[in-house]
Amino acid sequence: MTFDDLGLMAELLGAVSAQGYTCPTPIQRQGIPAILEGRDVLAGAQTGTGKTAAFALPMLQRLSTRPRAHGQRGSAPPRALVLTPTRELAAQVGESFVTYGAGLALRSAVIFGGVGINPQIDVLRRGVDILVATPGRLLDHARQRNVDLSAVEMLVLDEADRMLDMGFIHDIRKVLALLPPRRQNLLFSATYSDDIKRLADGLLHAPAVIEVAPRNTAAETVTQHAYRVDKKAKRDLLIHLIDDGQWQQVLVFTRTKHGANRLAEQLERAGIGAAAIHGNKSQNARTRALAGFKDGSVRVLVATDIAARGLDIDRLPHVVNYELPNVPEDYVHRIGRTGRAGQGGAALSLVDAEEAGLLRDIERLLKRPIQVLPFPVFEPRVLTPEPDTRPVRQGRSDNARKHAERPNGNRPRKTGGTTASVPHKRRRRGPKPAAAKPRAE
Ligand code: AMP
Repeated sequence: MTFDDLGLMAELLGAVSAQGYTCPTPIQRQGIPAILEGRDVLAGAQTGTGKTAAFALPMLQRLSTRPRAHGQRGSAPPRALVLTPTRELAAQVGESFVTYGAGLALRSAVIFGGVGINPQIDVLRRGVDILVATPGRLLDHARQRNVDLSAVEMLVLDEADRMLDMGFIHDIRKVLALLPPRRQNLLFSATYSDDIKRLADGLLHAPAVIEVAPRNTAAETVTQHAYRVDKKAKRDLLIHLIDDGQWQQVLVFTRTKHGANRLAEQLERAGIGAAAIHGNKSQNARTRALAGFKDGSVRVLVATDIAARGLDIDRLPHVVNYELPNVPEDYVHRIGRTGRAGQGGAALSLVDAEEAGLLRDIERLLKRPIQVLPFPVFEPRVLTPEPDTRPVRQGRSDNARKHAERPNGNRPRKTGGTTASVPHKRRRRGPKPAAAKPRAE
């Protein structure tokens, strides 16, 4: 099947072929005709399946072939609304509408928090057809009467499960209350929790149900392996793997924002270009880090789960779980960043003794074991000194216990003159992260 068979108009077919897409992905094959017909859709699809084009293309077509129902002129209110959990996903979805809609006279806008509100007010005043937004900032605009949602004909909840995980359900309900009752609703979610079912039941009318990847299964094109490694040796192992494999682009997941910062800084000190991306970073810093990662100037992007959600990086070859997520479903989302749209990718997990139970939970979810690779022999890299020369705390009382927990033989051997990279160097640590589960951003 080709895109020509899906009933798309010439302008959209041109945009699709300009992107180099030859065959529609499964979600596109099933989703595009249903959406073109005007049906509600419930789609179980992860990022990386081509889901954005699956809703953006038919939405653009419906909006450009049907006149505005209300005949508004001037500051035309949006006719389509896409809600996303994160700023990054909003920006990416917004870009997709611009790319695919290049040959059409439709206006789209992206609004999210963390950046100035005034430029967004200007854009809304000028009028838009398609509005892509995160829920919180959208409600801010609605409260200030900067946006009128009464003309919305099409609604998309993108990564709805993520929005619920992040506590957006109340915001979503408030947004729904501002929409007209008659509209087309599209709900995309990688997983189906009871909360998602409840949301879908209240929102969708006789939806076309599309399930492209079996629930909670990892992309088949991704190879998955693990190393059993002492917590303190993870950094040296990661540096070795990046060096030895000559990895040029790797996304590394940590559980906390603090951990992401610290690891990015240590990689930099090992001479590996790295940046951290998480919710405490300004929008500009996040955009800069992502741009550097995409253009190759940043080799390693260290991210928390929430910051990484929905990141669309073409042909991302390596994903590393520096720490396993507390929730096994997050593992599936993480490794979904690699092996995109049918390409191969590799996912590696660095598992310490405390994480053995988390690994088992993940294997139970995947319904298959993750092969543990033999620990490589290598010399730890010498890091350049830390710029911050904080006082050394003497006699950590828990050192002896921690050493005793170390799995046999997993610690890289200490070699003469490499004290800076020796895993159990005594140094004052940063504040202990308050919560293992990342906060909603
Ligand atoms: P998404 O699931 O929307 O995040 O899309 C994942 C990636 O697949 C994006 O980089 C798209 O550009 C790419 N993509 C979408 N549709 C196709 C297609 N039909 N053929 C090849 N790549 C695609």
